[in-house]
Amino acid sequence: MQITRIPALSDNYIFLLHDPQQNIAAVVDPAEAEPVLKRLAELKAELVAIFNTHHHIDHVGGNRQLLQHFSQAKVYGGVEDKGRIPGQQVFLQEGDRVQFANRWAEVLFVPGHTRAHIAYYFPPEQPSETGELFCGDTLFAGGCGRLLEGTPAQMVASLSKLQSLPDNTRVWCAHEYTLKNLQFALTVDGSNPDLKSRFTEVKASRKYLEATVPSMLGLEKRTNPFLRWNQPNLQSAVNSHDPVQTFARLRGMKDQF
Ligand code: ZN
Ligand code: FE
Repeated sequence: MQITRIPALSDNYIFLLHDPQQNIAAVVDPAEAEPVLKRLAELKAELVAIFNTHHHIDHVGGNRQLLQHFSQAKVYGGVEDKGRIPGQQVFLQEGDRVQFANRWAEVLFVPGHTRAHIAYYFPPEQPSETGELFCGDTLFAGGCGRLLEGTPAQMVASLSKLQSLPDNTRVWCAHEYTLKNLQFALTVDGSNPDLKSRFTEVKASRKYLEATVPSMLGLEKRTNPFLRWNQPNLQSAVNSHDPVQTFARLRGMKDQF
């Protein structure tokens, strides 16, 4: 399974999964159809699946037009999103598994950004290889999604699920927000050496408009403040001893940042 990024809209990433043997493809969160159709034409691949993480238009905006070209493609999304994802045919919940080519992904229910949000996790085929996490707007490189339909406690539970995956997991998040996220992270975790060096690297990459997605989950655990609500220095930065309250205060500060 080959994974490529397709930049879309102002700062979205669409992810294309391609199996060269069968020449089939799947797409994660098609914000728009045109760039996906173009890539599929270049590959001469047939689209067999659309994997949506949640119903926002910058994640499902291309569904209908893709279905017009590939009417046999199946549209996957969370069961709680019933009625909100155009063309949805498969209604997923925690513990379900979905197949693409010879790979299976585990479905994780991760509400918080929206009440229906799901993530797709492909475990590695070999222990030495990376797992692949498609987490939409739940976890970002250096940040997390806003709480539009969920509570801090829900989001902490969802992020904990993602955090329990192996360090050697690639985080395919749906937006290029990394630089701004790390600028915020430095204001609450500025003495973290891993964070400081990550910021320097990301700043250099973004100067040349290089993508910073995917990131590695191990690095997120060490540098992303929204996975670090148990760290004493982050708790003292927001004057709390409670993980959920720490998360909620960090999220509130980021909303204003
Ligand atoms: Zn969203
Ligand atoms: Fe989004």
